Amino acid sequence: MSHAFDTLLVANRGEIACRVMRTARRMGLRTVAVYSDADAGARHVREADEAVRLGPAAAQASYLDIQAVISAARRTGAGAVHPGYGFLSENGDFVAALAEAGITFIGPPASAIAAMGDKSAAKARMHDAGVPLVPGYHGDDQDDALLKAEADRIGYPVLLKASAGGGGKGMRVVESAEAFQAALDGCRRESRAAFGDDRMLIEKYLTQPRHVEVQVFCDTQGNGVYLFERDCSVQRRHQKVLEEAPAPGMTEELRREMGEAAVRAAREIGYVGAGTVEFLLDADGSFYFMEMNTRLQVEHPVTEMITGQDLVEWQLRVAMGETLPMAQEALTITGHSFEARLYAEDPAQDFLPATGTLNRFELDLAGAGLEPTRVRLDSGVASGDAVSMHYDPMLAKLIVHGDDREQALATLNRALAALDIQGVTTNRDFLQRLATHPAFRAAELDTRFIEHHEAELF
Ligand code: ADP
Repeated sequence: MSHAFDTLLVANRGEIACRVMRTARRMGLRTVAVYSDADAGARHVREADEAVRLGPAAAQASYLDIQAVISAARRTGAGAVHPGYGFLSENGDFVAALAEAGITFIGPPASAIAAMGDKSAAKARMHDAGVPLVPGYHGDDQDDALLKAEADRIGYPVLLKASAGGGGKGMRVVESAEAFQAALDGCRRESRAAFGDDRMLIEKYLTQPRHVEVQVFCDTQGNGVYLFERDCSVQRRHQKVLEEAPAPGMTEELRREMGEAAVRAAREIGYVGAGTVEFLLDADGSFYFMEMNTRLQVEHPVTEMITGQDLVEWQLRVAMGETLPMAQEALTITGHSFEARLYAEDPAQDFLPATGTLNRFELDLAGAGLEPTRVRLDSGVASGDAVSMHYDPMLAKLIVHGDDREQALATLNRALAALDIQGVTTNRDFLQRLATHPAFRAAELDTRFIEHHEAELF
């Protein structure tokens, strides 16, 4: 199916809305922003050709209101909707409602979202497709005694995960058989509250894995490629903080194996568009499928930096029915890239979200002697903007490129220092401590990096 469209509605806010519209504009598309009352004067609204109010500040009544988004698209003649990440980006009902309205969704078919939406079902599918899984249990039988027997068989420590989970919620490490039942009860409670579903899966808990994910892309003609990997091991409470591409220390062989497994995973579910297959990489070079994110990821720019490709352009072209812009053999890695997530939050107060007026938010590249081709600030805010408490506190992403890891890291540190931020507390100093840490410089990465180096980071 091919869908021509000349107007794109971006059903999101903040930096990702601005970033998607930038590419849409360059491709000659008219852009439509949507906003809540809290965002009436926001940067993404200012930058769009047209903007439509969705509703009050609460996301449920605005950015998550499917009917409001669809009627905004209808009213503005938008032939396509880009969901960004978060909000409605992985909502099957939204995809179905758009199809009904004859509007193109910039993303995969609802069936592919559904296939990956449930962790247990996804694992069973991936197992059949020959994608390696962490040893574990992901069956339908949820009897307490059976789960306990499975945990004993897998061997402690194990990780209990909510099948319906996401965002690190409903997850608990169980150290011993004695601790199992209490952890299971707690996890079920949390999962019921967060997802209305208390099915669990169990995995072997890897003690020092790295989080390495592969960017994949598929078109409607059945072509699929991988755009290499990102290392997102630096996390706080399972949330990514600093990302990089390529992953340090990868051999060409491992890169190809992981890339091909990721494309296999995507093909298995009839994937279309941009997707990310997340793996845990063990110290011995074994890798295991964790989950697939069926959207454009926050950290996609590091992949753009090392491949020289615009992933949003790829998404739009695929949605228009074109074939993938490049074949696997033509894709190469040039240099190294980092992304730091800049949040309005206070690391000294347990990362409490911060609000206020951003009196200044500038990055003077020339003044800092930084090359514009090497530094990119994807921002949802500008000097003078208000930062409210209604949404995710991420203000911007600082992305850098270097000929190699060392050069890219030096640039990241200079750019972080050069950011002029006034009026709102941010995690910038924390990012600087991370990016200058000797263990980070030495790429001694694993998912508990922050936990292990707490003493020097806080
Ligand atoms: P969510 O969907 O809630 O983000 P994930 O399954 O993607 O949950 O896992 C989030 C993070 O938890 C991973 O990036 C990794 O740091 C950690 N993790 C997940 N599974 C394991 C495991 N089996 N062993 C060790 N760490 C894990």
